[in-house]
Order: sequence, then C-alpha cells, then structure tokens
Amino acid sequence: MDTLTPRFFELPDGGLPDGKTLCELCPHRCVLTSGTAGLCKVRTGGGGLPFYGHISSVAIDPIEKKPLFHYRPGEKILSIGFVGCNMRCPFCQNWYISQTTESAARVISPEKIIEEVEEAGLKQIAYTYSEPLIHPEYLINCMTLAHEHGIANVLVSNGCVNEKAAAEIISLTDAANIDLKCFSDANYKKILGGSLSAVKHFIKAASVNTHIEITTLIVPGFNDGGDEIDDCIDFIASISNNIPWHISAYHPAYKLNTPPAKPEDIINIKERAKQKLLYCYTGNINDNDNNTVCLNCGSVLLRRDWYKIEILELIKKNADGAYYCGLCGTKTPLRY
Ligand code: SF4
Ligand code: SF4
Repeated sequence: MDTLTPRFFELPDGGLPDGKTLCELCPHRCVLTSGTAGLCKVRTGGGGLPFYGHISSVAIDPIEKKPLFHYRPGEKILSIGFVGCNMRCPFCQNWYISQTTESAARVISPEKIIEEVEEAGLKQIAYTYSEPLIHPEYLINCMTLAHEHGIANVLVSNGCVNEKAAAEIISLTDAANIDLKCFSDANYKKILGGSLSAVKHFIKAASVNTHIEITTLIVPGFNDGGDEIDDCIDFIASISNNIPWHISAYHPAYKLNTPPAKPEDIINIKERAKQKLLYCYTGNINDNDNNTVCLNCGSVLLRRDWYKIEILELIKKNADGAYYCGLCGTKTPLRY
C-alpha cells in the first residue's frame, strides 16, 4: 500500500454523500470534507496525509522517562513526537505540539528514524510527546521497519482509538505506557475530549500480549474526588495486579492554573493503591521510596532517584527475557 494512503477511513464510495469521508480511527468519528481536518487537526478529507512524517521532536531519553519502569530498565530510547492530538486535556504539558499543527516539525521518513536509532546504538524507539495514534499510517510503517531491524516499539499514548486501529497497532507494540486520566465517562468526554470506554478497551487489548504500564496524572479537583481513584485502581487490578501504575503529580500547564498536587496526597494514593496493585510508583515529586523490590525476599532490585536508576547486582537476565532476583531466585516482573 502507498504510504500516503489514509487508513481507517470510510471512503466516499463506502456510501457517504457529497464526497465526504468518515474517519473511523477514533471515537470522534469525524465526517470530513475535502481539505477540512477533523478534531485532531491532522486527518483531512479529500485523500492524502498532509502530516505524514511531520516529526516535532527527536530525543534520546532514559526509558524510565516514558515512564516505563519494568521494561528494559536503565536503557536509553530514541523518542519521536508528532503533531496534533485527538483529545484536548486542559492540563496538557505538550500543548504546543498537541493542540496545533503549526509547531516546527521536520519531515522524517521511517527509514531515516530507524537509521538514527541504529546510529545511536539503541535497541528501542518510543512514539510519544503528542499523540502517536492519530498517525497510524506512519506508526505502522515505522513499527514494521523497526521489527525488521530487531528494534522494539514503545508506545506512549492516550489509548483513545477504535478497536480496529487498536488491534493493528498493538500487534506491533512491544511495550506501552497508556494514560488512564480519570474514571468518569462524562469528564473524559466533556473536559478531555476523549472516551473512557475506548481507553479501557485499549488497555485491556494491549494487556494480552504487550508489556503495559499505566499513568494517571492526579489533578486536584478533577479526578481525586469521590471514588474515582479507587475505580482506577480496581480497573487496573481487574486486569492484573502486576501492571505498574504511575501516579503522577499535576503541575499547572496549558489552560489549568490550579495549584499543583500535594506530594503527600500522591504518596497517600500510592499507599492506598498498594493494597490492590503490586507495583505503584509516583511521578513529578520527590519520593525516596520509588524502588522496585523483590516480592519474595524484599531485596531492592532497582533503586530509583527520579529517572536515574541503579540496577543492583541482585538481578540477572535469563534466556526467557525475564530478570530474576539474584538473592532468592524469584522471577521478577522486569522484562528486557
Ligand atoms: S482521528 Fe481525527 S479525524 Fe479521525 S475521528 Fe479522530 S479526531 Fe476525527
Ligand atoms: S491526550 Fe496527552 S497529548 Fe493529548 S491533550 Fe491530553 S495530555 Fe495532551
């Protein structure tokens, strides 16, 4: 297939009148006319992919920064960002690339990106910063090429797409960090411009064969009232209590200027979550207890100081792709 042929479109000959196109990529299901863009500002009617390969940033990060704490710990990852997003979180930290397509971007082909990964001597690439899922054609091409070169694909995403696209992209994804922003259908829709049911489906589908970790940004007054946080915890636990949950503290950004989340509130949520989830971590606060510990003997396997980690000699890699506690031999959830 031509790389510039849009996917997940119900094309005009599929029945829409007046040359209109229905975009089936995400729950917004925008009806597009020639030259007009959908809510994501990226996908347009009339054929073609005007933002194919528009890469807003390329950087080499610690993999912990995605955040992924249980996948290839201590490794560096080449991270690329796109333009646009199909949601509109008022606290978006990357609004200058997610809420516009005007930000400076270079057109970079998947082949060039893979070349950069190899030149940097890396073994993994992250699709991140703004929302990668609204660029499925590029993602699928780059992810397929990455696998042909023995490079792992890491997706950092809002998880807000329809099932068909989710299945195809997940099948090429080795590890993902997916946002679970709140547990209210109404708030997902009205405040964030997303869909809780699509995100829940994405998380469940990805959990089957992909390493997943989940992030929730705690925004005071938005998602920390009532039972909402407990609903998030219960949902994650219903899939697996092994899934790492990153509880991250909100800081004012974009349209929201309410005061930052208090570190003690984040720690309290972590302690509460630990009753149901085995691996809970905080983000954006000073926390000297963000280590990964062997659940059998209590040895500290990974010691973390923000994104810096110390891999203690207790860990060894075995041929099955897992790490084991060097002290008691118990299999850990860490993967490579
Ligand atoms: S991906 Fe964009 S154009 Fe397609 S339905 Fe979602 S918001 Fe609309
Ligand atoms: S989903 Fe992510 S990138 Fe999109 S608006 Fe929300 S925080 Fe920003």
